[in-house]
Amino acid sequence: MSWWIDGSKLTKSDGKKEWWTTVYGPGDDVPVSGIYRCLGCNREITSNAPDRFPPQNHHQHSAAQGKIRWKLNVRTNTTGE
Ligand SMILES: [Zn+2]
Repeated sequence: MSWWIDGSKLTKSDGKKEWWTTVYGPGDDVPVSGIYRCLGCNREITSNAPDRFPPQNHHQHSAAQGKIRWKLNVRTNTTGE
């Protein structure tokens, strides 16, 4: 889970864009820049569009944690708009 403090500037999204609901795998194209959380282990990464998500060997999971699956947690405002 990401941290924030009083005074952090965050805007709540309605979450309807597909980048909020889609789960991405290693090497997939990053749709929007932001902080992504691994659904298997809760590790977070920052990834920028139009890069790709890290490869499968980015980190190790137990069998119970399954495959690496990235979901957008915080979208970053890279344009300042
Ligand atoms: Zn993980």
